[in-house]
Amino acid sequence: MTSPGTARLKALDSDHHLHPFTDFKALSEEGSRIITAASGVYIQDADGQRMLDGMAGLWCVNLGYGRQELVDAASQQMTQLPYYNTFFKTAHPPAIELAAELCRLAPDHINHVFFTGSGSEANDTMLRMVRRFWALKGKPEKQWIISRENGYHGSTVAGMSLGGMAPMHEQGGPCVPGITHIRQPYWFGEGRDMNREEFGKVCADALEARILELGPDNVAAFLAEPVQGAGGAIMPPDSYWPAVKAVLEKYDILLVIDEVICGFGRLGEWFGSQHYDLKPDLMPIAKGLSSGYLPIGGVLVGDRIAETLVQEGGEFYHGFTYSGHPVCAAVALKTLEIMQRENIVERVRDDLGPYLAKRWATLADHPLVGEARSLGLMGALELVADKATGERFDSSLAVGSMCRDTCFDTGLVMRSVGDTMIISPPLVITHDEIDALVSLARAALDETARQLA
Ligand code: PLP
Repeated sequence: MTSPGTARLKALDSDHHLHPFTDFKALSEEGSRIITAASGVYIQDADGQRMLDGMAGLWCVNLGYGRQELVDAASQQMTQLPYYNTFFKTAHPPAIELAAELCRLAPDHINHVFFTGSGSEANDTMLRMVRRFWALKGKPEKQWIISRENGYHGSTVAGMSLGGMAPMHEQGGPCVPGITHIRQPYWFGEGRDMNREEFGKVCADALEARILELGPDNVAAFLAEPVQGAGGAIMPPDSYWPAVKAVLEKYDILLVIDEVICGFGRLGEWFGSQHYDLKPDLMPIAKGLSSGYLPIGGVLVGDRIAETLVQEGGEFYHGFTYSGHPVCAAVALKTLEIMQRENIVERVRDDLGPYLAKRWATLADHPLVGEARSLGLMGALELVADKATGERFDSSLAVGSMCRDTCFDTGLVMRSVGDTMIISPPLVITHDEIDALVSLARAALDETARQLA
């Protein structure tokens, strides 16, 4: 039952609030779901419905909801120094301590960080740094950034341009020049006419072909997520990353790994690039850095780039009012402390990830499921019309959205990307909660199948 208070909020929301990634007309007609409270891995809406948050918010609330220590860290810092900037050679203790701690946790060749307010800003920063680096090296013609179709790197103009989401490119005018996209290593979606490992090599060959087309001397960097998140929790074939690395080394092209989702334990290592043994030159970060409690992002900068920027660069004309915001930095610092104290990364790698893999795989027998895959605490289900052939549903049926809405009704937040259902739960989820998540997902699949029948 919707209370008068909730009805009022829904009306105001429809009348005045333009939501991100939302069909405004559909929202104004159907209204929104208003989330009012949360605890652990559960959220609750204004109508009293409790849901297991299988997406950790937007892949970010890694420590779960209701962490009083994070609230206290914010409150103390608010009292001590609510704001100061880090421009023009000023600093404050939280930003300094956080920079040092991040560099201690990052791979050895990374010893600098530039703070931003979000993952999109981190990718904008990265783009400017990459081009500046090559200019300082006397190679200003090295401008091109190669990224991937269906990759996601944010929603600012540069983030959208770096990403490979065609519907985003179609809105809002021309993209930032000097960015090009190659095919993605999405075996289930695009490669099933060959075996997985062959397909991984074909995708890496596409990188080499594009480099040669552009001229290696004109290519600055390759940008990718370790596992594509918003594109559909796409784990590349094992052959992919070693082959990509070899190509980049051959042509002296920088590797940028977008760790906005995969960083901070999601794949069972501090950074997703460590799972695949990559040594990126730059790593955009955000989300899990503060467990989503406050907005903060950054770029972790490898020594090769940092030495050039520091020794040869002079002033870098770039920064944000909230770069290294003291309250956000204090919360991020506390997040990293809790993660280490509770051995979150090791637990995902050794216990929760393998447990989810085992339980998630049981959904593969469902008639709607063409593939069930997971890595660490990220998983996907491919919904298909014909299990034997893997044939997809007609897109006009919007089966993924139907399943997502059914999930909400059954008490699970699972996101849909086309007909791919994805999960990315808080990293503190327990075995019992994983069991509950899998049971709820099965119930939603059953209900979706019933609606389609
Ligand atoms: N990069 C990746 C891989 C992301 O998944 C996202 C957001 O989902 C971003 C960048 C953009 O981050 P933000 O929404 O904080 O700007």
